[in-house]
Amino acid sequence: MGKPTGFKEFERETEKYRDVGARVKDYGEIYTGKHDTEHLKIQGARCMDCGVPFCQSENGCPVNNLIPEWNHLVYTSQWQPALNRLHKTNNFPEFTGRVCPAPCEGACVLGITSPAVTIKNIENAIIDKGFEEGWVSAKPPQERTGKNVAVIGSGPAGLAAAAQLNKVGHNVTVYERADRIGGLLMYGIPNMKLGKDVVQRRVDLLKEEGVNFVVNADVGGSGENAVDVSILRKDNDALLFATGATSARDLDIPGRNLKGVHLAMEFLTASTKSLLDSGGVEPDLNDSMVISAKDRNVVVIGGGDTGTDCIATSLRHGCKSMVNFELLPQAPHERAEDNPWPLWPRIYRVDYGHEESSKRFGRDPREYNILTKEFIDDGNGNVAGVKMVEVSWSNVDDRWQMEEVEGTEKVWPAELVLLSMGFLGPEHYASDALSIEYDNRSNYQARHGKYKTNIDGVFAAGDCRRGQSLVVWGIHEGREAAREIDRYLMGNTLLP
Ligand SMILES: Cc1cc2nc3c(=O)[nH]c(=O)nc-3n(C[C@H](O)[C@H](O)[C@H](O)COP(=O)(O)OP(=O)(O)OC[C@H]3O[C@@H](n4cnc5c(N)ncnc54)[C@H](O)[C@@H]3O)c2cc1C
Ligand code: SF4
Repeated sequence: MGKPTGFKEFERETEKYRDVGARVKDYGEIYTGKHDTEHLKIQGARCMDCGVPFCQSENGCPVNNLIPEWNHLVYTSQWQPALNRLHKTNNFPEFTGRVCPAPCEGACVLGITSPAVTIKNIENAIIDKGFEEGWVSAKPPQERTGKNVAVIGSGPAGLAAAAQLNKVGHNVTVYERADRIGGLLMYGIPNMKLGKDVVQRRVDLLKEEGVNFVVNADVGGSGENAVDVSILRKDNDALLFATGATSARDLDIPGRNLKGVHLAMEFLTASTKSLLDSGGVEPDLNDSMVISAKDRNVVVIGGGDTGTDCIATSLRHGCKSMVNFELLPQAPHERAEDNPWPLWPRIYRVDYGHEESSKRFGRDPREYNILTKEFIDDGNGNVAGVKMVEVSWSNVDDRWQMEEVEGTEKVWPAELVLLSMGFLGPEHYASDALSIEYDNRSNYQARHGKYKTNIDGVFAAGDCRRGQSLVVWGIHEGREAAREIDRYLMGNTLLP
């Protein structure tokens, strides 16, 4: 695979994002949109025929992408066969090639001694080239089985399941309560990381292949867009819940009800919706539905992808200042002893939003070991500041304990506070109506690999089953759930 001595000859070099100062002025993707094929061939040449490619095993890529094979094909300029290999395991490489944190690279064997192969860049280049060259086209099934499947939720899990079930000839209808298809790919991950034209392009292909989509369809809801879940079950041969982990963790401290304190998803969704409704260039910050960060001191509480996306979006709105409070200490620069290869490296990273905030304000926005205690009222019911205190962590009998550091309490000015502290699990209103059982974390109870709930013919996949996760895990679960649904409907299956 690759060039036998490539890993000794060539250094790892990732594709650069657009210039920080330029990209922060717009909502376009942070990527340049150009792939240097000669450069990528060299990067592909670093793949070293390691014998047991951990990158595509369970510690690496969740969809088991055939990474060494397409690295070699790129190295030898066989881009179309590389694309065919990529589509064997991944329905949507244009999503993962952009947003996946690349656990494959954390598990790359070369990574034991040297920087890993740039797998994610190569994946993205293969699929982008595929679209450019017109190699990606709709492939509707030759025959229909006459079986009907309803998929609830149109995120990566629902879309991957729909694609696979449609491929083997079932009639698939995807029900989505939002006004656009895509789940968190559409409303969640901002335009800068994943252009909405990229999402729509794939949805259009699925439509062409015969998948039906119904938007503004709130399954199990009670409003004007409600769709009766029991009727949906009766009218279909199988039902898949792919409703995501949409219950956000809140922060129940004094002042939570003040104006200007919002859950991250309220902020991000409104901004993207306005951007799309007003032509796809920028959100209308004067629209009353948009939560504007313009000229405001912004505090983002909590990190992860969601926190970074709040930072990057606030910067583009034109915020006055930015700080990101993290309760935990800063991660180490190198793997800790209890975090060996090939596990996902829990190390310090600088993501696109951190880089942009550093450029704008001259410092990284993250403040570590900070506990938020109260939101301060400006006297008119608006938030004016955040009372916080520093904490220290100690390990007592293998349990981490947190203690406030005396004398460190202070108030940080803030007219906008965004809560980005993760998600608790799925909402239950649609599943309760069918008496679906939950696990002890409130996710839908369904075994990984089987995806069957306690109700006959009803399946669950993605974040609603496994808890808050990643796009690539959504695709993995959607594909596998489709296989199990096909088996349930037909008695056997050829789906992977
Ligand atoms: C801000 C943010 C940034 C992220 N960034 C990344 C990233 O960079 N990389 C990465 O890999 N992962 C990222 N993630 C995580 C990733 O987006 C999710 O793990 C993934 O989208 C989960 O897929 P899913 O299909 O299970 O659910 P979702 O994408 O959440 O989709 C579920 C869909 O179901 C719909 N729905 C729910 N209930 C109903 C109902 N009753 N009727 C009809 N429709 C319903 C919802 O409206 C939603 O559209 C991010 C998450 C967030 C919140
Ligand atoms: S989907 Fe993610 S883990 Fe798999 S090859 Fe692509 S970047 Fe790596």
